[in-house]
Amino acid sequence: MFDRIISTIKMNKKVIYLAPSDELIEFVRGSLINKMGVLYNIDVITFDDLAMNIAMDFLEDREIISEESSLVILEEILKKLHDENKLTYFKEVYNKKGFFIKVLNEIRDLKDNNINYEDFYAKISFLSDEITYNKSIEFAEVYKEYSERIKELNLIDLNDLIPIAIENIDRTRFFNGVSMFIIDGYTDITISEELLLKAIKKNIDINYIYHLPLDIPFIRHFADGEILKFVRENGFEIVYDDYIKDSKFKELASELFESGKTNFKEIEIIDSPCIEDEIRQVAGRIKEICLQNNAIDLSKIALIIADKKVYEEKIFDVFSEYGIHIALSKTEKYTNIPFIRTLIAFLRLKTDRFNKDLLKEIASSPYIDLNSRDTISFILNNYYKGSETAKYLEDLSEQDVLIREIKDSFIAFDDKVSERLGLLKSEAKFLEYKIEIINLMNDLKLKERILDLYKNNYISFDLMTRDLKALFGFEDILNNLEKSHNYQNKEITYSEFIYILDSSLRDKIVTLDNKPSYGVKVLSPNVIRGTSYDYVFFMGLNEGVIPNITKYNGIYSEKEKELLNERKIKINNNQYEMKKEKLKFLFSIASATKALYLSYRTADEDGSYIAKSQFLDEIMHKIDMDSSSKQTRTMKNRFELNSIYSENEALTRYCITREQKIGNLLSGISSKELSNIMMAKSIEDKRNSEIYTEYDGKVDAKLLYKIFDDDKYSASKIMTYNKCHFKYFLEQGLKLGGWDEEIFSNLNIGNIYHDILADYYKKFIQRNPTYDEDEIENIANKAFVKYGLVLDDIFTKNTKQAILDRIKNFINIDIEFNEKINFRPFLIEQWFSVDDLVKNVQINGRIDRVDLEYINDKPTGRYVVYDYKISNTKALRDVLKGDAIQVVFYYYAVEKLLRSKGLNPDCVALVYYDITKTCDEKKPRFSGIIVEETRKMLNVDGRTNTVMKSNLEVVFSHVNNNFIDNSIKEINRGIFTLPNKCIYINNYGYNCDFQDICRYDEIASKNKREVLI
Ligand code: SF4
Repeated sequence: MFDRIISTIKMNKKVIYLAPSDELIEFVRGSLINKMGVLYNIDVITFDDLAMNIAMDFLEDREIISEESSLVILEEILKKLHDENKLTYFKEVYNKKGFFIKVLNEIRDLKDNNINYEDFYAKISFLSDEITYNKSIEFAEVYKEYSERIKELNLIDLNDLIPIAIENIDRTRFFNGVSMFIIDGYTDITISEELLLKAIKKNIDINYIYHLPLDIPFIRHFADGEILKFVRENGFEIVYDDYIKDSKFKELASELFESGKTNFKEIEIIDSPCIEDEIRQVAGRIKEICLQNNAIDLSKIALIIADKKVYEEKIFDVFSEYGIHIALSKTEKYTNIPFIRTLIAFLRLKTDRFNKDLLKEIASSPYIDLNSRDTISFILNNYYKGSETAKYLEDLSEQDVLIREIKDSFIAFDDKVSERLGLLKSEAKFLEYKIEIINLMNDLKLKERILDLYKNNYISFDLMTRDLKALFGFEDILNNLEKSHNYQNKEITYSEFIYILDSSLRDKIVTLDNKPSYGVKVLSPNVIRGTSYDYVFFMGLNEGVIPNITKYNGIYSEKEKELLNERKIKINNNQYEMKKEKLKFLFSIASATKALYLSYRTADEDGSYIAKSQFLDEIMHKIDMDSSSKQTRTMKNRFELNSIYSENEALTRYCITREQKIGNLLSGISSKELSNIMMAKSIEDKRNSEIYTEYDGKVDAKLLYKIFDDDKYSASKIMTYNKCHFKYFLEQGLKLGGWDEEIFSNLNIGNIYHDILADYYKKFIQRNPTYDEDEIENIANKAFVKYGLVLDDIFTKNTKQAILDRIKNFINIDIEFNEKINFRPFLIEQWFSVDDLVKNVQINGRIDRVDLEYINDKPTGRYVVYDYKISNTKALRDVLKGDAIQVVFYYYAVEKLLRSKGLNPDCVALVYYDITKTCDEKKPRFSGIIVEETRKMLNVDGRTNTVMKSNLEVVFSHVNNNFIDNSIKEINRGIFTLPNKCIYINNYGYNCDFQDICRYDEIASKNKREVLI
């Protein structure tokens, strides 16, 4: 066919060549340049270009509406109809963005079918099904309002170009000099496109040719009922010659989806446990191909991926790491650009004015020019009290010189923030919000700041370029949004504005480097229409990705679509879309000439199972390939199965396998890096060693001793296990510690209280304690030094004073109380070891304090065990649920200890002693296990649950059986699986030190629980 085109061109005649994808357009242009050395007298364009070229002279001042503007208009229409009570079927979804998109797609489909809203009303009037009729009337109303609204605004949809082109076909000059019109690559076209072609054919007397892009039975059969029918009826010449040469892969495509088997060995199927591994395997194969043939033309290698967006970023990284040119542009999401994050943090402050994290983001951002950044951050970290901060700093400054010196800079910063936020209205037109943001960016001198950061070597040239591109791009985004919202009549609230900005930025990217013209191609299957490549890697062949027919679900059900199709309203049903998915697959398979690789994933990125594509199954069945004999790749063995193609891979592999050969290769790296690697390796070793039977926590019981070198338990260890088996495994097995750097953390403050109380009461063992304020201060000062509360700043002073006041208060109340009940300290900070509670298990612990009752200076054996807590003490119900089991150990330990001292122990209470509540309520506040018969003596109120003396043993054996004995047995069986529900998750995310290495997933965990381990 190219020869005919060339001879037409050489006769100085023009050719119009319609092709549906850039890939086919590029191929046609490239082929002609190769043959002629130059490209002239030919337009290789899409249908949309054709319609635009004809219609453009007749648009007058009408403009094409953007998709964003269409959605804004639809949103308004649906809201209006809803407020007028005109929506029944759409009333639950009328304000959802996903629904606006569906409605817009439905309108576009109707336009493609040359059905305007009046035709639509006429066609649905005969619908007999009540639901379909009523729903269609509702939709017709939206369609009508939408059409009228855009007409009123002098706008048109892209689909409206075709009717304009048809209307003016006899007046266009676009066909002057044209003598050949070719349509290629299409297997079906819309009714509007058919009408346009008919109009052209009727008015312009030239050669009309249709080229079937791939002549194999499935495609021929599909096209027979679609475009071939049309071109035959309209007298087009039909050309069946394929651009793709005959190959074994084309042969396979021609037999696929037909019954029977075929003898075929040339396909390689690749399975991977994650996207990155899939890409690495593919990149590895390409590296091998390049090594065998260093003159290879990389543009003859194609990666075909249905969900390209998900893969692109990782493909870019891995191929760059491997040093393979890839025809992909380098991009970055707007939401990842630091100054954009700062800007958004600032805008969010308007509705969350005293959010410390947002303020910290602004104060720490290098893109904001702040003179006293350190001071502001210092105050935000240590003294921030929300709206009260200014007053708080003012009060503190009277006693503290440092605060006096630095407070002004914080107050100035905070005032400036308030001043700027005050300029943003609560309700306004989008334009007004846009102007305010641009003003803000100008005030902040963002552009100058970016340049300064670069000049002063804070950011690299690449980062400066990225930031400047993002800055200009961000302004464009605002302008486009403003244009879309220009058509909106009403003002929007500030929250709506932030929502619009957020959702618009979410998927936007900054192009850092344009797509190189040379390199391995990355294509989606719908652009392959008869073009070919030496090596094809069809990636991501998973169910739901290809085929994916859910994306075509509009506002009608399958049944309703059938009813509408009967009324000549063509809405593609799932069956039709499935056929189109098969076409894409066949085009892609047939496009390989030398080798075809098909890859799929066995797990989703969150670790959950995903199935391979039914099309891949179809191929495997066709060629009789059995995958069961192949070793399955897992996250664990993926490194061993791959060859190494980069230093990064060598490092990772070395961490996992510690192969000496690789270690030698890596000997050049710095010792610090190596020690980090070794540390990572030792953790990976433990996670990946042969003692695992499941990745997420089942350990071979026979090999447990290799991990747990200490078989002694404590209450807190067992409680950690009860809350999360996996956390226990990380802490006790892998010896990973949590971060505890905060000197003022509750943990350390708790230790200070414990130390002071222990030291004070030790002096009164077996005596009635008395109150001695100087002694308390002496002891407290030693504790402050011991725990590092030594700085001479106001914050430390205040903290010490608060502790001292509270501890004095507490001791005072406690002593008065003990005088009344005649109890005296007997054991203080008593270490114990219980070895007869669970067979062969030693449980260690420490009791804060045991008081005994004294009558006539003699202990009666009645005792109370105290466990001090600053606040949040556990109640009886927590003990019974296994969340507070210490007191059970205390019971067994104290009983034994007292007996060993010749006493006859009689438990009165085993309690958590709440220091804060005791001070606040000016009377001892206990909770835990309190014997009902002694409630009155201990002055415990009626709301606190107690236990009858006769039931004490029942409580202890319940806790022991269910939360101690059973837990230790599970530990010994190596069960460290993830919990059904992670109790460390809250609305703001995880509150666990191990969140970054934990693969907790609520749904996956629940499913796993169904499996008996
Ligand atoms: S995040 Fe939750 S599930 Fe994961 S280790 Fe921490 S506590 Fe356990």
